[in-house]
Amino acid sequence: TSPKSPPPPGSELIPDFAPAWAMAHSRAKEFISGLTLEQKVNVSTGVGLGNGPCIGNTGTLSLLDTGSNTTRLSWPGLCLSDSPLGVNYVDLVTAFPAGITAASTWNRTLLRLRGEAMGAEFRGKGINVALSPVLGMGRVPQGGRNWEAFGADPFLAGEAGYETVLGLQQNGVQACAKHYINNEQEHKRDHESSHVDDRTEHEIYLHPFMRAVQAGVASVMCSYNQINASWACENERTLNQLLKGETGFQGYTMSDWGAHHSTLAAVAGLDMSMPGDISFGSGTSWWGANLTAFVENGTISESRVNDMAERIIAAWFLLGQDDNYPPVNFDTFDPFNPAKNQNVNVQADHYKLVREVAAAGTVLLKNVGGALPLRAPKTIAIIGNDAGPSTRGPNGYFFNFGLDGTLARGWGSGSTSMPYLITPLEAIQERARQDQSDVSWFLDNWALAGTQPLVGSQGFVNGANDTAFGQDVAIVFVNADSGEDQTINTSNIVFGDDTLDFGDRGNLTLWMNADNLINAVAAVNNNTIVVVHSVGPAILEPWIENPNVTAVVWANLPGQESGNSIVDVLYGDVNPSGKLPYTIARRTEDYPAEPVTGGTADEILLVEYTEKLNIDYRHFDANNIEPRFEFGFGLSYTNFSYSDLTIRAVHHTDHTSAALEAAWADGEASPNVEGGSTAIWLHRPAFEVSFTVANTGKVKGGEIPQLYLHFPSSAGEPPSVLRGFADVLLNPGQSKALTITLSRYDLSVWDAGAQGWRKPDGQFTFSVGASSRDFRLKGSVPL
Ligand code: BGC
Repeated sequence: TSPKSPPPPGSELIPDFAPAWAMAHSRAKEFISGLTLEQKVNVSTGVGLGNGPCIGNTGTLSLLDTGSNTTRLSWPGLCLSDSPLGVNYVDLVTAFPAGITAASTWNRTLLRLRGEAMGAEFRGKGINVALSPVLGMGRVPQGGRNWEAFGADPFLAGEAGYETVLGLQQNGVQACAKHYINNEQEHKRDHESSHVDDRTEHEIYLHPFMRAVQAGVASVMCSYNQINASWACENERTLNQLLKGETGFQGYTMSDWGAHHSTLAAVAGLDMSMPGDISFGSGTSWWGANLTAFVENGTISESRVNDMAERIIAAWFLLGQDDNYPPVNFDTFDPFNPAKNQNVNVQADHYKLVREVAAAGTVLLKNVGGALPLRAPKTIAIIGNDAGPSTRGPNGYFFNFGLDGTLARGWGSGSTSMPYLITPLEAIQERARQDQSDVSWFLDNWALAGTQPLVGSQGFVNGANDTAFGQDVAIVFVNADSGEDQTINTSNIVFGDDTLDFGDRGNLTLWMNADNLINAVAAVNNNTIVVVHSVGPAILEPWIENPNVTAVVWANLPGQESGNSIVDVLYGDVNPSGKLPYTIARRTEDYPAEPVTGGTADEILLVEYTEKLNIDYRHFDANNIEPRFEFGFGLSYTNFSYSDLTIRAVHHTDHTSAALEAAWADGEASPNVEGGSTAIWLHRPAFEVSFTVANTGKVKGGEIPQLYLHFPSSAGEPPSVLRGFADVLLNPGQSKALTITLSRYDLSVWDAGAQGWRKPDGQFTFSVGASSRDFRLKGSVPL
């Protein structure tokens, strides 16, 4: 299997990239043999921020560099670029739905296709390495970059990361799984130490990275923070032991931009310094001449430098980048220079997929009395700043540090520029033209109560409630934003009390007076529908039970087709099937953890992962806390029934692993890799769970059945852990048999003492259902 021919989505095959990696490494070994030390160091050291066309650039190798060996290939070096939702810092690209939206689809096919389409765009711009995906765990709901990632469950994030990597790499672009590891808050992200116990590290935070490795990921970016008091990019345990050892990662590690703190980081497993300079623009480097000197004086072995270069060149061969890969055709730092930016249009028809993924990632949270879907309402009021355009256009704020108009992505390097942005206001009006509906709008979130008497259908409107009064439906658009590292530029915008801290949200309330706006509208209109564009969970208690709020639609961060995808859902052209990738709590305090704040500038903040395995829903379940909307929840315009549960052991025809499987069954701890690559026997299906889902309603719709495992009590696991999901689209009256498989790994816990995956003693049961609390079928695993 090569990364260019992954198995089809849903296939039970476990792709084994070990042979492709072995081939790539042997070519790389040959390629670097005979290179001078300086040349190998050059492969591993970035050229410094702004000294090349991309946000990250490695050194290059030319024919002349290779001295006597003139037959050797030259090497153009690597161009590395953001972001996880599309190509950043360049024009004529697509702005895809963010990771959190993609994860809300719970649909592997769409996740794969999104990755593929993004990969095609990176390739078309000549970018070798897409700095994507983000595999953080959303440990704290306020986490500034949670929206770049795939939600608050390791299994879901792992599947989403796996499909994204396969998709990106299918087009020959190298993916980069980041930010490794425990980079769960932005507050003092480069001055905090995450203290995590070994079992939690394996079961929660390492898991998605292991899945990326299983998808053949070319590179992994180590993060800004420390883990157990050692910098992520010089952490021998997380880099050498966990990543390169236990997951069998064959590619290379790179530092996050400026997360490299010493020449000796090489020894701990760092392979590439990005962007290469100690501080941006300094002209100095921890590597480059310093690394060469450390090898020459015997502090670092040359074999370590060989290994770095070999890993980097191997990834290049693995993805076939030696074969006609397009050269870089833009310049991040000089975008309007026609000599440098060729304005290559890579968008193809990806806008269709953007619209489809955003609609599929929209979660229906409340729908009373058939408020939705809309059926050609006579009058529609559209309320809220989030419905309309930004006063400065879709790209009017540096790094998107501005909230103005509808929210379609968060801010920071994980953002992207948009070719255009279809607003909800625009798309609803388009639909109104077809339906001959009257549309009115009011986009000021602060003027709630009008002072003028209402006169017929026209009048002097100076408050949201003037506009909403008397209309068939009032749709209120609200949002909550966050992003990377920086506090948003507030100079032009009024935020009220939405305090921020280094990119993390300061609280979980919706922004810009949203709660008051919703209640003011609902006070005059008994068919108020709320649409939320959010980076993560928010507290909805101020209005969620208001009887005049008839529907709530959680639209996440939809990307450039925002308005079209919300219209698809509101009008029922798409029946919502998205499910929450995190818990929406009733109170902020109900969450297991919050960002650690404070600390002086130089102080290393201690962030203790005291909740251990109980992140997100696991904590709510373990402590009997009633959430407002549980993890995995999402309504549909139809209903589904579940039946016919069976489970059977899978018997594989090859018996080479029989002894290992028997030892596992006896409770022996097993390593994740054998001979340097994934232990297939541990990860392939061991049990097949089958059941039938039927559409018992009146309209076509998709359901996401979820499988939660309940470990025996001896295991010390949370009450329910997600271990499988499927997606199915059914016509009214139609039913379909589905299968979800469980591997031995799925049935194991990390035994920190024995350092292996072990099956705990006792009875394993499981539930299949429509959310983490809506269980429809129960069974036990015949171990
Ligand atoms: C971010 C990374 C990003 C890099 C390059 C860093 O600040 O943390 O996610 O890939 O910059 O822009």
